[in-house]
Amino acid sequence: MTKTSLVRTVVVCLLYWCVFQIPQVAAQTDGSGAWYSDSRPIMGTNIRTEIWAESPTLGLAAVEAVMTEMERINQLMSPYIQSSELSKINRLAAHSNVEISPELFDLLQLSIGLSSETQGAFDITYASVGYLYNYREKQRPDEQTIHQLLEAINYRHVVLNEEDKTIKFKHPKVKIDLGGIAKGHAVDNALAILTDMGIEHALVTAGGDTGLLGDRRGRPWKVGIRDPRHRDKQAVVIPLENIAMSTSGDYERYFEEDGKRFHHIISPQSGESSYEVQSVTIIGPKSTLNDGLSTAVFVLGVQKGIDLINQTRGYEAIILDNQRRLHYSKSFEAVNAEN
Ligand code: ADP
Ligand code: MG
Repeated sequence: MTKTSLVRTVVVCLLYWCVFQIPQVAAQTDGSGAWYSDSRPIMGTNIRTEIWAESPTLGLAAVEAVMTEMERINQLMSPYIQSSELSKINRLAAHSNVEISPELFDLLQLSIGLSSETQGAFDITYASVGYLYNYREKQRPDEQTIHQLLEAINYRHVVLNEEDKTIKFKHPKVKIDLGGIAKGHAVDNALAILTDMGIEHALVTAGGDTGLLGDRRGRPWKVGIRDPRHRDKQAVVIPLENIAMSTSGDYERYFEEDGKRFHHIISPQSGESSYEVQSVTIIGPKSTLNDGLSTAVFVLGVQKGIDLINQTRGYEAIILDNQRRLHYSKSFEAVNAEN
């Protein structure tokens, strides 16, 4: 699919702002192979995959490889697993240099780079305050606590040493969390593993992060953007192939108190939830970047967010603002004007 035809199809969908469901995918077979699919709860979300394989041996092995990779990343990067590298960093990096795996080092480096490219909107040190929110238990830090910890939110406090692959925090109260980018990274890794296995048609979804290999054998994949205020409805369904798409929304983790929604995307400036938009979708070749950018644009809001994506080659954005109005990046807009 060319970029123009992709953009055109997306815009047509947006114009109708249609509300319909993604059809349930059943396993299909023909003489040359079959679809293998599975979904499992990993990384605090639902991991789903659909893979076309020529033999059951390959199909089942491919599904298992995706799930194994997700669990590996979970063990490495979860803040809830005491033995994870991320937990170790949070325990020790304020006191000493902590040596970490090259994989985590690279993702941290990318995250810090993204912070400077997004005026600090994407910032893994949001967790210095963010760790005090517990959405399931409806807990949040009080104003005074936020005020005391706010100066610990700053990606410049994180010092990465390329040579010996170590990390150190320059401020005693810093904590980091990769919840805004680790799932995208896991999706990219899973797709790379599938490609190495010879798979040419696959979908891997981790919560709001989806990566696609090829098409759905003769037709595009259909990836939905959930209506932020109706759990079971898709606001938009977009036909896509060989690309990735991530959505960040204020509905994944939240609780309400006195009519106010406290949700999981935190403005590093205030230490509180960000309120300008309800959801942000980014479409682009790398799931890791889609994931980070969707979180960043959510915090930046409509104008700054669209400006950022317009300057990021190969990436497009669809934003639903807090009045439920749609906004989209330049290439989408150009085709919209043509129609
Ligand atoms: P999800 O797919 O879980 O909805 P998102 O991509 O929308 O994830 O990112 C939300 C997650 O990112 C939060 O749960 C939190 O772990 C992390 N996060 C929240 N605010 C920020 C921020 N300003 N910068 C980086 N990460 C953030
Ligand atoms: Mg994200």
